[in-house]
Amino acid sequence: MKLEINNVTKKFKEKTAVNNFSMEVQSGECVGLIGPNGAGKSTLIKVIADIIDPTMGEVLLHGKKISKMKKEIGYLPQYPNFFQWMTAKETLTFMGQLSGIKKEELLSCIPEILSKVGLSGEENTKVRNFSGGMKQRLGIAQALLHKPALIVMDEPVSALDPIGRREVLNIIKEIKKDTTILLSTHILSDAEEICERFVIIKSGEKIEDTTMSELLTRNSRNKINVDITSRSQKWIEHVKNLNFVKRVEVMGNKLKIEVENIDSNKNMLLANALEHNVDLIRFEIDNDTLEEIFLKLVVEK
Ligand code: ADP
Ligand code: MG
Repeated sequence: MKLEINNVTKKFKEKTAVNNFSMEVQSGECVGLIGPNGAGKSTLIKVIADIIDPTMGEVLLHGKKISKMKKEIGYLPQYPNFFQWMTAKETLTFMGQLSGIKKEELLSCIPEILSKVGLSGEENTKVRNFSGGMKQRLGIAQALLHKPALIVMDEPVSALDPIGRREVLNIIKEIKKDTTILLSTHILSDAEEICERFVIIKSGEKIEDTTMSELLTRNSRNKINVDITSRSQKWIEHVKNLNFVKRVEVMGNKLKIEVENIDSNKNMLLANALEHNVDLIRFEIDNDTLEEIFLKLVVEK
């Protein structure tokens, strides 16, 4: 499986919601499409799911136009629309029939999919009585019903409370094992736990395509936080004299050590501490938090 988004532009009259956007998703990946509100995430996802046509550009799956490959793609909208009076089973039967799945097939795959999203036992509960997390899991079930190779989810956890968020993140972790995933969110830390790769969109344009570790290293401040016990105080004077150490801030037993190059110096510093038998409590790279990185990216660029 390979999804290719080639130079997609989507205009609504004068408004360009997505501008010359290209990216690829390879089989087995879980990619986060991250951007602030109004960035163009939902528009791009609708183009990918073949809900709306792009003004320019194309989306290919296995090298074929997405409109010919709808069976291979599952879509969870940002605001899934359920009939409150239907039960979970009725909802999936209805939606499955809409997407052309045979009745007999639905009989066997609905229990299977309900169990996959942790809703076994709720098949006869009305959607009206579902929590936010349960509704979202039913939405995921609906998107997976025809066993697509790729599932695209538009802000699957953004509107949920912490419990619902946890439920849905756990389900996505399971689905990830056998389905390629592209999901959007406006909260970078939501994607942190499940996505290996991040594509950042701002004002309809792609501004980043990177991994979490690359993002964190790039934004590291060349500082290392080291906590020691009082019996290792002598080491502090020694650290100050190391040739790769630029500055040391000392607050009791907590040190903030600025080095010349975090990549090459971090292990040298750790080796030095071990060599001096330092009683370490914490040894940690002082990175920007994800929120700080995200704000820098979407505000400054
Ligand atoms: P996001 O999902 O990242 O919040 P959207 O894709 O919903 O962003 O919207 C991107 C931009 O396109 C916004 O400025 C939005 O107002 C505009 N937009 C989205 N859909 C339409 C539409 N149907 N008609 C006109 N403008 C739209
Ligand atoms: Mg949106």
